[in-house]
Amino acid sequence: MPDEWKPILSEKGLRPFRADQILQSLYRDYIDDWDQATTLPKDFRETLKSEFPITRAETLDISESADGTRKLLLGLDDGNSVETVLIPATGRFTQCISTQVGCGMGCAFCASGSQGVVRSLRSDEIVAEYMAGRRLGEITNIVVMGMGEPFANYDETMRALRLVNAGRGPNLGARHITISTCGVVPGIERLAGEGIQFELSVSLHAPNDELRSRLMPVNRKWPIDVLMRTCAGYTAATKRIITFEYTVIKGVNDSRACAEELAEVVRRVPMAKVNLIPLSPVSHRPDFETPDERTMLMFLDVLMKNRVQTMLRRSRGKDADAACGQLRLRHLPQK
Ligand code: SF4
Repeated sequence: MPDEWKPILSEKGLRPFRADQILQSLYRDYIDDWDQATTLPKDFRETLKSEFPITRAETLDISESADGTRKLLLGLDDGNSVETVLIPATGRFTQCISTQVGCGMGCAFCASGSQGVVRSLRSDEIVAEYMAGRRLGEITNIVVMGMGEPFANYDETMRALRLVNAGRGPNLGARHITISTCGVVPGIERLAGEGIQFELSVSLHAPNDELRSRLMPVNRKWPIDVLMRTCAGYTAATKRIITFEYTVIKGVNDSRACAEELAEVVRRVPMAKVNLIPLSPVSHRPDFETPDERTMLMFLDVLMKNRVQTMLRRSRGKDADAACGQLRLRHLPQK
């Protein structure tokens, strides 16, 4: 964090303004070697090289789709890799960030969850991921929706996001940063107490416990009733809206009855909206198919008639392995 440099500088006999030069070098000049930070004294650069190596995320592969979405596979120092996705839109350039290598939450429709979790990312690795994206354009928004469950790596994720948000760091506004959880209740409770204006989105994907537990094992630990009470508590404490993500899967959770049940569930949270997303097919579950347009519109219509604020989202980057975890899966050695 920016302020953490000051005691280090003081210990080395350097003035506090050097902290600004360090941040400028790291986050504006994109240095990847301390030798490039020529505003800093040479002997201090040697100290930085030995004591504070710069974490890099090397781009191993880029897959680009016709709609301009780019997915990057980033290599980490220990040989592991993670994905980040860059999504251009009018007036926006959104980066989807990963917080773990793989994921331990095991959602049935997710490529990242299909191989389990390898390890959580450190905050410097998450920031390196962001910097790899920023080299390709000015990021206006971050969604923490990539590989991994951010609340299973709460401290390192929050540390990284606070740094990206820091005024003398990259300075990305808190309201432009969205954290997405599959429903880890203690994480939602902690975020409510942080006093920071990050946005929260919760992946619901099913309107009842029977179906949700089949699609998302996390529901067995924190079922819908507990989750919704926690979400209502979050909106009461923060006065911030929660977005519920609902991926529509053909023949699984796409019936009119599901839509009606979903409306009833979401209305338990006073400040809520729903994003409806048609499933992006994943190679490990050929039985999960994308719903047709008519089904999506029916679902939208039922929610709107039940006074639930709803947005129909499009899957982006369908030809870029853009469903989370797919590019990494393609690169893993086959068993
Ligand atoms: S959808 Fe998210 S929480 Fe679920 S397995 Fe995939 S990465 Fe993990």
